[in-house]
Amino acid sequence: MIFRQLFDRESCTYTYLLGDAATGQAALVDTVREHVGRDLELLAELGLTLTAVVETHVHADHVTGAGELRRRTGAICSVPRLGGAPCADVPLGDGDVVRVGAIALRVLVTPGHTGGCVSYLVSLGEAAADRVLTGDALLIRGCGRTDFQEGDAGRLWDSVHTRLFALPDVTLVYPAHDYRGVTVSTIGEEKRHNPRLGGTRTRPEFIQLMAALDLPPPAKIAEALPANRACGDAGAKP
Ligand code: FE
Repeated sequence: MIFRQLFDRESCTYTYLLGDAATGQAALVDTVREHVGRDLELLAELGLTLTAVVETHVHADHVTGAGELRRRTGAICSVPRLGGAPCADVPLGDGDVVRVGAIALRVLVTPGHTGGCVSYLVSLGEAAADRVLTGDALLIRGCGRTDFQEGDAGRLWDSVHTRLFALPDVTLVYPAHDYRGVTVSTIGEEKRHNPRLGGTRTRPEFIQLMAALDLPPPAKIAEALPANRACGDAGAKP
């Protein structure tokens, strides 16, 4: 599998490129509109054809490049069903699979950061899944905030503990953001060392901790939410 982690400095977003070398098909997960050119150039250099543009959730901090990528490549936009993005070609629910050649992205519904968040368990061919794209449900030593877009700390705790922490400890964790420059973790590592969700932390403590964060709204929320409900094509017909 061709696997690349790409970064947006402004929003600290990770975009993932997953390519199947055998068929030349590729997916991009959680794109950023400003980097559509970069991503298309990389696909061309690697000899890959973009067939799927995928979101973990409707983002509040950056505008997705999904709509533009769909227009320029004909790729299919797959967005979580509960995300409130009518622009999706394929609305995804729990257990659904996005196939890119021999690569499978299996949907694990992991709400809590937003009401419509999903994670993608990634496998190649018959091999067991070795990595999970967790969106903002589980970050490295952290998690997404839970104070808007139907965010709910109790639901996030349950998603992480019943879905993500149920995966094998060796599963690689690739989040949608990192603000400290860390790129990858594992489920086992987060179970032990995540200060919000792991170790000896309890569900009531987590809910209290999230309620006390008192964060300012994301800088781009007013622009990003309506734009992302239209797959990044603000003002365009969904
Ligand atoms: Fe988010």
